[in-house]
Amino acid sequence: MPLVSMKEMLQKAKEENYGVGQFNVNGLSWVHAILDAAQQEEAPVIVAASDRLIDFLGGYRTVAAMVSVLVEEKKIQVPVALHLDHGKTVENCLRAIDAGFTSVMFDGSHGPIEDNIRDTKKVTAYAATKGVSVEAEVGTVGGMEDGLIGGIQYADPNECKRIVEETGIDALAAALGSVHGRYVGEPKLGFSEMEVISGMVGIPLVLHGASGIPRHQLQRAIQLGHAKVNINTECVTTWSHQLRKTLAADTETTEPRTILTPAREAIRETVRSKIREFGSSGKALSLKTK
Ligand SMILES: [Zn+2]
Repeated sequence: MPLVSMKEMLQKAKEENYGVGQFNVNGLSWVHAILDAAQQEEAPVIVAASDRLIDFLGGYRTVAAMVSVLVEEKKIQVPVALHLDHGKTVENCLRAIDAGFTSVMFDGSHGPIEDNIRDTKKVTAYAATKGVSVEAEVGTVGGMEDGLIGGIQYADPNECKRIVEETGIDALAAALGSVHGRYVGEPKLGFSEMEVISGMVGIPLVLHGASGIPRHQLQRAIQLGHAKVNINTECVTTWSHQLRKTLAADTETTEPRTILTPAREAIRETVRSKIREFGSSGKALSLKTK
């Protein structure tokens, strides 16, 4: 089954008030874990590669091949989108599209809004010719973004409206208090701003840095238009924790499969629990897969 864009899955999620999970990959075993989880939950899923990790992962074409071939080999029946997370430049987004990514995020949030709109437009123009969905960002998500540690800067509602209307993006990451990485204390999301922006833009919103946001806040963000919820930290935490445990329990083993399988299963269980939390279990059945 070929990879799909995230356009249709997000529109449906927004209409029906649930969230589709985006899970970032850090290697082949992550792709296995995420696909197995989505299949078991019968949920649409977004497999993502962060632009900052593309060289580590072997390049855009390697990632695209890894995901699309594994979907076939595992006979995955749920809709899967392959998304570039935090695309650093227009050129990188275009390269990802040419390599077979079915969705890209162009992150021009660190520059002036005029530049962000101008560059996002270049990406949407090219993506439209290939049936690829596009996400853009306004404001600043806290913590590490594009390898830079920064403070939270709320998205400006008028800038959000402009970028949606002028570029034709499919989803918008409007930064409203979320943080990449671990939260210090209880996360504080700007729900009133969220309601305003969601009403003004009309398209699905994307929640970055969703790991560690308590369930009641997540549910509220989904009710207020967040159809895509990004998870990375929770998976890397559970993976590294399990890996340490396995190695500590048997200091003699050198068998990679013995060492790596429990960690892969830990990712899968984390992904499954997030899918259930977002309400997207069973939602693959009513979506077209082609
Ligand atoms: Zn992000």
